[in-house]
Amino acid sequence: MSRRPGQSSRDTDLYRFWTFAYSFFYVVTMPPKRLGHFNEKLQNDFPFIKKLKSTDDFNVQCTTCHGSFSVSHGGQSDINDHLKTQKHKLATRSSVQSGKVSNYFSALAPTENDFW
Ligand SMILES: [Zn+2]
Repeated sequence: MSRRPGQSSRDTDLYRFWTFAYSFFYVVTMPPKRLGHFNEKLQNDFPFIKKLKSTDDFNVQCTTCHGSFSVSHGGQSDINDHLKTQKHKLATRSSVQSGKVSNYFSALAPTENDFW
């Protein structure tokens, strides 16, 4: 009789451990795919979009118009929506006209010096 309580609490501990381990494993290996987040592919497709924080995959900033927005709704579609905004179009137009963008970007690219 004295064994039972000890044994059952041990089983509960084990159960709690596996529940925790399973949910931890699930969260790490199965990110919610429907939720958009800023990944390497989007970074390659849209080099002018930067993450606001390195730890935040959802809030990004556009270096062309300096507008910040969230990609949590659809990832690429959120960025496409941003590209259609009046603010971004105006910024694109004015930066192309002034010609400052190329200087701005070459100043930001330290890797170029490594190649030359
Ligand atoms: Zn923009």
